[in-house]
Amino acid sequence: MTTPAHILIVEDEIKLARFVELELSYEGYQVSVAHDGLAGLTTAREQNPDLVILDWLLPGLPGVEVCRRLRSTGNKVPIILLTAKDEVGDRVAGLDAGADDYVVKPFSVEELLARVRAHLRRTQEEDADTLQFEDLSLNRRTREVFRGSRAIELTAKEFDLLEYLLTNPRQVITRDRILEQVWGYDFMGDSNIIEVYIRYLRLKLEEKNEKRLIQTVRGVGYTLRN
Ligand code: CA
Repeated sequence: MTTPAHILIVEDEIKLARFVELELSYEGYQVSVAHDGLAGLTTAREQNPDLVILDWLLPGLPGVEVCRRLRSTGNKVPIILLTAKDEVGDRVAGLDAGADDYVVKPFSVEELLARVRAHLRRTQEEDADTLQFEDLSLNRRTREVFRGSRAIELTAKEFDLLEYLLTNPRQVITRDRILEQVWGYDFMGDSNIIEVYIRYLRLKLEEKNEKRLIQTVRGVGYTLRN
């Protein structure tokens, strides 16, 4: 990683927040701290951290609600919940709300750091599999496609076509090139097939009136552009 990962701590116990902040800074992470739920939610949305450490019991907005609101807008940042001992129900509710993991208080800082490293490593691996343009994302390994938080079902060919466009964003791709790359050199059918598939893709990608991302370049081909 070229830039240090950015971690947001949302914790109302000032001393504990400070302690975790110092430990994470010492490990080389960039750290932000919020002391209540609403500030945590705002900071998470504005600063786009790579990971959030989120306390369960917070003034203003509880941790579980912060988690739910982030997920409701398609935010996939890894979230580690801090929960008190014996609150098993809370942990289940937290995972249901979209948290990725939890650490039980009181915790050892080594354990927390290990979890942080594991989740950051996992997102980096996922990033390598994910092609993204604006709010459109495609995962090559799981073959999932999303517009924001909306999952989109594609046929195998639609997926291949979109994947090819996503590997060359903002470039104008000729129809011949699309035909070669997506349908293969030996394709003998009607080249109008591209128009047909572009139309299918647009219908699915713009089903909820989202902005058009696949643009026609008249007489040449197509480009992914906003
Ligand atoms: Ca608390």
